[in-house]
Amino acid sequence: MKQKVYITRKLPDEIVDRMREKYEVRMWEEEEIPVPREVLEKESEQVDGLLCLLTEQMDQPLLKNANNLKVVANMAVGYNNIDVDEARARGVVVTNTPGVLTETTADLTFALLMATARRIPEASEYLRHGKWETWSPMQLTGQDIHGATLGIIGLGRIGEAVARRAKGFDMNVLYHNRSRHHEVEEALDLQYVEFDELLKESDFVCVLTPLTKETENMIGREQLAKMKKTAILINTARGGIVNEDALYDALKNYDIWAAGLDVFAKEPVSVKHRLLTLPNLVTLPHIGSASIKTRMKMAEVAAMNLMCVLDGGEAPNKIRE
Ligand code: NAP
Repeated sequence: MKQKVYITRKLPDEIVDRMREKYEVRMWEEEEIPVPREVLEKESEQVDGLLCLLTEQMDQPLLKNANNLKVVANMAVGYNNIDVDEARARGVVVTNTPGVLTETTADLTFALLMATARRIPEASEYLRHGKWETWSPMQLTGQDIHGATLGIIGLGRIGEAVARRAKGFDMNVLYHNRSRHHEVEEALDLQYVEFDELLKESDFVCVLTPLTKETENMIGREQLAKMKKTAILINTARGGIVNEDALYDALKNYDIWAAGLDVFAKEPVSVKHRLLTLPNLVTLPHIGSASIKTRMKMAEVAAMNLMCVLDGGEAPNKIRE
């Protein structure tokens, strides 16, 4: 009898067909609508393998009833949507898609940094709304990127790729991690600093850690208060790392100059969220890895990890924390 697989969102045919050759595959056929929880629960009870997105909460109640489940293959590098401890206790392998999205996410992080610093969405709207009546000395002026100091919190794969881009812009780059990366420091001329020093010294603070119990609310009132009044905060990692109430107050009072967010604590963010009323916030709908090539690669890697486990092998991207 063929093993059973459930895919929680419509994926490209070529990837699904490959899986269909080996397994009995069912799929949530919608692209823009997430699988309802009750459907996911029911499907999980039957299957050997699940390929899911970050929109699915693979939590304890769900894993508890998934008696045949051997693998959860997440189509993302972050896996805060999965209870990894519970999965491990049940002998379920969890996998992610590191590496293939690094450069694409670094591109977007830098694009958001630049768009926020130079007020690009606001300037575009200004023109379209007929407000451009003259050129004036201080009209739509922003912050310089070249020569500024960038502080990266979480110098992992994406953090390092952002640092490389920053060096091309002649930026001075600081970073903070739990561990130091001496080789990268030397190769890219980066400086390791303590967390507080990074907050105090940076013109741009860029968050690129995973969302964990340790990093949740890592940037709150106290941390925002340490930043420069002219500083810009960029979060392309996960919502929840930056406390949104504290960020709202800091932006509203101009305790920091601006922020760029690709991620929110609750996604999709409500259009009524008070952060969206602020002129000094640039927002995106979690599109860090959203290039055609990269999303295809992520789907391929997720499928490959799932197939490795179901075929009795070792998944290359098994979470080992
Ligand atoms: P990675 O290579 O694992 O890098 C994460 C870095 O964070 C590591 O260098 C780690 O270093 C550091 N870190 C972890 N906990 C920390 C803490 N408590 N304090 C300070 N630093 C800490 O991961 P990646 O591939 O670069 O991805 C990073 C995150 O970006 C992912 O987890 C994901 O949530 C997010 N992401 C978002 C998008 C998007 O679409 N917006 C796309 C891709 C990824 P130490 O262990 O030494 O501290």
